[in-house]
Amino acid sequence: MKAAKYTILINTAEAPIGTLNSHNANLSFNPTTVLCDLSYKNTPLGNTDFHFDDWDYSHEYAFGEKIKIENREQYYKLVITIKKMILESQKTNAVLNYSNIDFTRCFFDITYRFTPMRNMENLQRFGKTEMRPVIYSMYHIDTALSLNFSDITQYFYECYSMSDVIFAILHFLASRQYKFNICAHCGRYFATTSYKQKYCFRKSPMQQYAHLNCEQAIRNITQEINRGYKRIYNNLHQNHAEENNTISNFLKKYDAARNDFNIHPNIENIEKCFTVLDKKQWY
Ligand SMILES: [Zn+2]
Repeated sequence: MKAAKYTILINTAEAPIGTLNSHNANLSFNPTTVLCDLSYKNTPLGNTDFHFDDWDYSHEYAFGEKIKIENREQYYKLVITIKKMILESQKTNAVLNYSNIDFTRCFFDITYRFTPMRNMENLQRFGKTEMRPVIYSMYHIDTALSLNFSDITQYFYECYSMSDVIFAILHFLASRQYKFNICAHCGRYFATTSYKQKYCFRKSPMQQYAHLNCEQAIRNITQEINRGYKRIYNNLHQNHAEENNTISNFLKKYDAARNDFNIHPNIENIEKCFTVLDKKQWY
């Protein structure tokens, strides 16, 4: 068996983390966002940007460092297929179809080996004392499709190309029944197991909050908006009470901006709130 060019390990925590290892790189990635950020250039592609071809794709940038692509033609077709699956899942509110994806492997000449790692406690409970990995590539497709994923704690893949790498991540998401949603803050796609999750784990696209992930950024921004509102309202109330118009004008503008922010906390609506909360406008 030839040596793997890349290996991938992904844990199954609620916020899973993946690592991609090769002879010259150890990269950590987020399996819930990396497939949505696949790009042939150093800036993210739009969610629906399909206008590129295999000649554009000499390197993949989604993992934070550029990685050389060996088989451009297959790789770019696979990226487009994955992008379409993401769009479809988001549009139809459907989980990735595991059987379809596993059958798709054949069309793309995907050659990775998958080893589900089960936790030692479970192994002992079933009377086994050692870790015995299942070598996925040796299974007949029907047996592979009937694998039970519920007690897997880590997914280990040995990959022989970048197509293997991104397909392995797709396989992980499909087997855990992920579906895709659009982050209410940054507007980019992300995979989730529950639509209750409104925000992705990327860093906020707003410069002053770029050190926080989207969810934490929105929490901080909400606090800041609340504080700004109280400050201006109290000041108007205490020091400018005779200017009734100013208070009602402020409340009207604030309520409108705040309402938009509550429904869709994107950059535009956040900036609208901060514009209303600029005290120079009011006193
Ligand atoms: Zn986001």
